[in-house]
Amino acid sequence: MKAIKTGNNQYLKELNKAIIMDLIRTSEGISRKALADKTGLSATATGTIVSSLLDDEYIQEKGLGKSSGGRKPVILELKPRSYFAFGFDIDSHCLYTIVMDITGDVIYKRKRENQNDFTPQQAIKTITKEYTKAVTKLKLSEDKILGVGVSVPGILDIVSKKIILAPNLGWSMVELLEPLKSALDIPVYLDNESMCSASCENWLGLCKDVEDFICINIESGIGSGLFLRGKAYRGISGSAGEVGHIPVNESGPVCKCGNVGCLETIASINGMVARANKSKKNNHDIGKTFNELLKNAREGDEECLRVLKEGAVSLGKAIAYLINTINPQKIVLGKRFPDYSELVIDVIRKTAKKYALTYPASQSEIIPSSFGEDSSALGAAIIPIRKLFGR
Ligand SMILES: [Zn+2]
Repeated sequence: MKAIKTGNNQYLKELNKAIIMDLIRTSEGISRKALADKTGLSATATGTIVSSLLDDEYIQEKGLGKSSGGRKPVILELKPRSYFAFGFDIDSHCLYTIVMDITGDVIYKRKRENQNDFTPQQAIKTITKEYTKAVTKLKLSEDKILGVGVSVPGILDIVSKKIILAPNLGWSMVELLEPLKSALDIPVYLDNESMCSASCENWLGLCKDVEDFICINIESGIGSGLFLRGKAYRGISGSAGEVGHIPVNESGPVCKCGNVGCLETIASINGMVARANKSKKNNHDIGKTFNELLKNAREGDEECLRVLKEGAVSLGKAIAYLINTINPQKIVLGKRFPDYSELVIDVIRKTAKKYALTYPASQSEIIPSSFGEDSSALGAAIIPIRKLFGR
């Protein structure tokens, strides 16, 4: 990324600072001269920005690099444990908290269970409490906290960030951003849960250098976050990625959205548990939990294996539609999926290959996420960090 050389206003200074920071982040060690070469800025201008970043402790000197004739250059890197960001993920029955430093290292992680679904007021109160608890425990100085990102399982208005609908929380038209800003007195950012997971894969995970990918979250429902040409894609009103409502079976169960046979009625955690419980052939009472279903499946229970396989076939078909429409390089399956990936991934890959066009299918890789249930909280913490790097 080239820096902008003309103009002297604050905006351009900040922009060039962000460009230099991002080069330091992505190169994992770079000299002042290399920074000047890559940005097109003069050695003096680069030196001034680097000095200010060193003074503010965003970066540090790592040691000496290889000489290309003259003196050995000093190598610069991001300074670990210097600035921090918070990420919260509001799930229906629990709140995940992550604290991350600017290098992406997680220094604090907590999962707090809630007896019932969070109301908006409870969510605000719990986030405030957990924030204060972590700040005290980690002895963080407030001027080192870049901000708070919050992941919400629902559709957000693209401009106002008002929560239009969060079906699993039973929320509609909820204002969370302003009350949280007032309660925490720090920059707060909201985003959709699946988009947070996609952002996590893009910043830290399997899609670091991938421009076009989809991250599909399998949990109580199914949602996805899309990155196209290296940028988050949200559609005109912010609801892009609602793949859970792709119709996959005309005679399937009725979905919460009112339609019949949506993907999430067959392939989500709740959908699979409901189907396993409904099965008359099932000799075991699998109870309410997906873990029971998995345990029985691993012990060879045919009905539980059938339910998982049907979910996998439906997911494979939906992925085939996505491959044909979007032509992505990677499809990452996250949240609860890594817990049972080994039982179904081959079926998903085989089905997607069978139904998708041969050429785009041969270019797409279907892989389980390595973050599991933490991906949305991690992605939420990345929102304030991304801004530092102009991303
Ligand atoms: Zn639906």
